Amino acid sequence: MKNKKKRDKKNHIRVKREKYTIKVMIEMYCHAHHGTEKGKLCNECSRVLDYAIERIDYCAFGIKKPACETCPIHCFKKDMREQMRNIMRYAGPRMTWKYPILAFMHIFDLLRGKKINRLYEKEANKPNFKFKMLLEKI
Ligand code: SF4
Ligand SMILES: [Zn+2]
Repeated sequence: MKNKKKRDKKNHIRVKREKYTIKVMIEMYCHAHHGTEKGKLCNECSRVLDYAIERIDYCAFGIKKPACETCPIHCFKKDMREQMRNIMRYAGPRMTWKYPILAFMHIFDLLRGKKINRLYEKEANKPNFKFKMLLEKI
């Protein structure tokens, strides 16, 4: 049952789209900064991509996840978070004209993340706070 849940989450269109967006952004960054061929990744960027995909698979928000940049939990370890931030800073603005639909969906996830943040801030300090209850509200 637990495995099925995890499989369903992995195959969810929302999760697949997010993984694809991150892959595209890392590829753009790698091509510009590490001189790799378009669509290819150097070892360092492959490691970042694998790590990000693993984090998404284990994301506490499941299929309701916001964009990681606006997540109130931030489960990435410090160095990976820093690398992702650099990648987003470079690839984010370029996505708008290269992949407008993905960019639009990503902006939508960022806005959802801001809303989740506000809710999390409001709820997390309550003595009877349960993460499950937060998930039901988003
Ligand atoms: S940073 Fe937040 S949204 Fe991203 S995978 Fe981790 S818990 Fe999920
Ligand atoms: Zn690279």
